[in-house]
Amino acid sequence: MDSEIRLPAGLAVRGGEVDELTRRAVPEAAHPYRTPFGRDGSRILHARAFRRLAGKTQVFARLPNGSISDHFRSRLTHTLEVAQISRTLAAALGLNAELAETLALAHDIGHPPFGHAGEKALHLALKAHGLAFDHNLHALRIVTWFEERYASFRGLNLSLAVREGIVKHSRDYTPAQHPELAEYFLDQFPPLEAQLIDLTDEIAYTVSDLDDGLESGILTLDQIRESVPLFRGFHDRALRLFPAARAKLTANEALKGMLDALATDLMAEIRRRVRDLGATSLDDIRNAPRRIAALGPEMEAQRAEAKRFLYANFYNSPELEESHRHAEEVIATLFAAYLADPSELPADHREQIPTQSLARTVADYIAGMTDAYIEQAWLRCGKP
Ligand code: MG
Repeated sequence: MDSEIRLPAGLAVRGGEVDELTRRAVPEAAHPYRTPFGRDGSRILHARAFRRLAGKTQVFARLPNGSISDHFRSRLTHTLEVAQISRTLAAALGLNAELAETLALAHDIGHPPFGHAGEKALHLALKAHGLAFDHNLHALRIVTWFEERYASFRGLNLSLAVREGIVKHSRDYTPAQHPELAEYFLDQFPPLEAQLIDLTDEIAYTVSDLDDGLESGILTLDQIRESVPLFRGFHDRALRLFPAARAKLTANEALKGMLDALATDLMAEIRRRVRDLGATSLDDIRNAPRRIAALGPEMEAQRAEAKRFLYANFYNSPELEESHRHAEEVIATLFAAYLADPSELPADHREQIPTQSLARTVADYIAGMTDAYIEQAWLRCGKP
């Protein structure tokens, strides 16, 4: 490994049994050959909520013509792509690759069905009750409460660093707003392994959504070339290098080039910021004036441009409008139906009502559903 790539060793989260950040709410005996963060990753991978990611939409619920390709990303395959990129970059930077991979496996576990349209609809339904839906906090509830696999504790009993990373995924909470999160160092930035996930997530879906957009026919090659200069540069190169290759393969080469360029730039910018800060310890990262994991200014502008393009032409495209409308209708009607008749909720969820309120309990139940399950539930009791 090129030593220039690696960051000072003190920046990596230490993952030994006695380290502060591997502390669990319920103390457990050390495993003879597995590390604490490695065990956390396995617990997430074996969780029911993780398996349900296979049935949750990333971008598509259904296309206007009703056809769904098996090649589009689900939340599960997106999660595995983020895990792959995170592990690779963390290892190359000399960070704790096991922790980065574990955080990537957990990063979307709190997402409701129907992608962002589902999240928006659930948030709206809760807003009427003075509550909010926040997928990070929902993820924390999943790993600390809803998962029931172990006889000696409720939840997955994950290490402190993993719970902190889940809470701080792509946002920062203030201690005043969230006193219940006090143990998660709210007035400090998370370790680099956690900061990294926000960017590897962005990188993974920017590239894969262009890919799925093309595959679905909602986006055209010409359109992407025209509006996403980063893609165009790598596509021109692929056309030069492989003049006889099929269009699908040169487009793929361009997407691969984009992914590599974004990941490489991210590592370079992290190194630059660490050097400028003179950071040598985790405390330096926690107390830095800004987050350290970021793209450089030029690449950040390119990424933002690709994202604007995806919003305008893919996420908010007329082709997906009907599925967004459907998601909103299903979630709103089902939410109202459970609110009106809580006896329709499963017994283990009904138990939560006295402590968590009915609205929160209904939202928790709906958030756990897959796209297929919520359609069935809607037909059973929600459909007007
Ligand atoms: Mg994600």
